[in-house]
Amino acid sequence: MNAADQRARLAKERRAVLEYLALKALANKKNVLQALYEYLVLNTSPSEAAKKYGINKTQLKSTAYQLMSKGRPALVVKLMKLAWPYIMEIEPLVENNYCKACNSVIHTNHAEPHIAVRHQDIIQKTALEVERKLKEAIKAKKQVVRA
Ligand SMILES: [Zn+2]
Repeated sequence: MNAADQRARLAKERRAVLEYLALKALANKKNVLQALYEYLVLNTSPSEAAKKYGINKTQLKSTAYQLMSKGRPALVVKLMKLAWPYIMEIEPLVENNYCKACNSVIHTNHAEPHIAVRHQDIIQKTALEVERKLKEAIKAKKQVVRA
């Protein structure tokens, strides 16, 4: 694989990981995100992380597996660390059983599939925004190092 192909693959994986994290945040699943962070970044055991954030251990494991399938493990962990503040500041799209994008009643349990099916454009826009903030932060850091 040449360098350009590798860069393209990396960009694709990065986008997929950020879109997955953005979907969770848009669906107002911040507790799931917190548990994922504890489990995957801080290496807390899945049962402990799940208990701390009031979610099911099996659910946490399957969510972690889905996330890990989006990109190579080192990239997923790195992105979670770097993008964390931007992911956590994403405003939920579905709140109190209501979807702000299409003004309809959506049960919280159905928020994720609803957003994934009906609001793919918002997921992409949100992930792009996170990516932009991430790039700006990295650029700013490099400038500090150089100065
Ligand atoms: Zn909607």
